[in-house]
Amino acid sequence: MAETILATVQTPSGISLVDRDVQSLIQLQTAPYLLLSLYVATQPQEEVKTFRSRGHSLLHEANIVLEEQWPRLPHEVREAAREDIRRCREFLDAFIPRGGCMGLAIFSCAGRNWWRHYPLPRPVSSRFEWNYDPLILPAVRLVDDYPRTGIVLISGTEGRIFGSRLGEIEELHAVRDEWPRRLRGGGWCGLMERRVERFVGEYVRRHLKHVAANMREIFRQWPVSQILVGGDSKLFEDFRHCLPNELRALWVRDLDLPADTSFEQLRDTVLAVEADLRQAYERKLLETLYEEWQADGYAVVGVEGTLRSLYFGEVETLVLDADVQRKGYRCGYCGGLWTALGRCVFCGETMNEDVLDLEDELVEETLVHAGRVEVVSKQEHFARDGGVGAFLRFRLEPSASELSQNA
Ligand SMILES: [Zn+2]
Repeated sequence: MAETILATVQTPSGISLVDRDVQSLIQLQTAPYLLLSLYVATQPQEEVKTFRSRGHSLLHEANIVLEEQWPRLPHEVREAAREDIRRCREFLDAFIPRGGCMGLAIFSCAGRNWWRHYPLPRPVSSRFEWNYDPLILPAVRLVDDYPRTGIVLISGTEGRIFGSRLGEIEELHAVRDEWPRRLRGGGWCGLMERRVERFVGEYVRRHLKHVAANMREIFRQWPVSQILVGGDSKLFEDFRHCLPNELRALWVRDLDLPADTSFEQLRDTVLAVEADLRQAYERKLLETLYEEWQADGYAVVGVEGTLRSLYFGEVETLVLDADVQRKGYRCGYCGGLWTALGRCVFCGETMNEDVLDLEDELVEETLVHAGRVEVVSKQEHFARDGGVGAFLRFRLEPSASELSQNA
């Protein structure tokens, strides 16, 4: 009689990648406790200690600002705020920017026992704020759109499921199925071998189905745009058949790693594969953008053309070089954004508002108008053209690019 398969499933408890949704930030109110918002900029090649000391000096300033408010704060609010500074410092000391990380955003409210951190796909200026709600810069809102990778490592008895986003990888769940004891030991005579094989095959298939069912559940809560599969490659073909169509379609690459690989090894491999896939995706995206633009279709490349299209609500997907950060100006009368002071090109009034980070404003405007944003790593030709462009929903007549020539 066959023993029932013993499944030791852990509850998917610590899915913190899942629960870090930016939407939940927008609603948050923490009064009477203060919330510390902290943005620390970094660059891909920068030394970790430079990044950390930038973070420390921000915390130092945050502490000074806190002490200025000291007399007005109730005792428990003060103590909680102190704890915020301590937690942030501790986190900074352990954090290593990885992958495409261009900055780190931390939101901490110890009084409410509440914490979020996000590695950012866009540069930000370093800053902090004490308030009763989080300071949400557009760069944080991009985190929700950033590609997520699901990873699974399979063996005959195990399935380890991981999630990866913006250089952070976490084990989300582990499935373990044990075989009946008599299949694990030896001592089988030749006559029995075929039966054992059939038996083992059946157990393995049940195990693979079990892993697939767990993946479906997890990636329903935390949707991914691609899946990498590693572990015992002899099982891949069977596993492919166990996956539901929607997950099978996302399986983009096999990983040459054993199922019991170390976390560090897995992280390095996944980051390298992700970078590779991402590069291919970005090359294709820019290629399409340029083709469409040069054919006078639904695309624009260049700062001023993009600003015009944005003003007229034409932008569907903004495409942005991750490194670009430039100053700009906003017309206080019509809200138009531009690169230079003087008369507003849209309404003729005088441009009067400084904008510290024009690209950040571009992101904001695009998101407000239900557009999408794609951040790409630096490509020479795109950077020469301003590092900004967009796919358009429609084009007004005369088109924004013609207007740009008449200005
Ligand atoms: Zn104007």
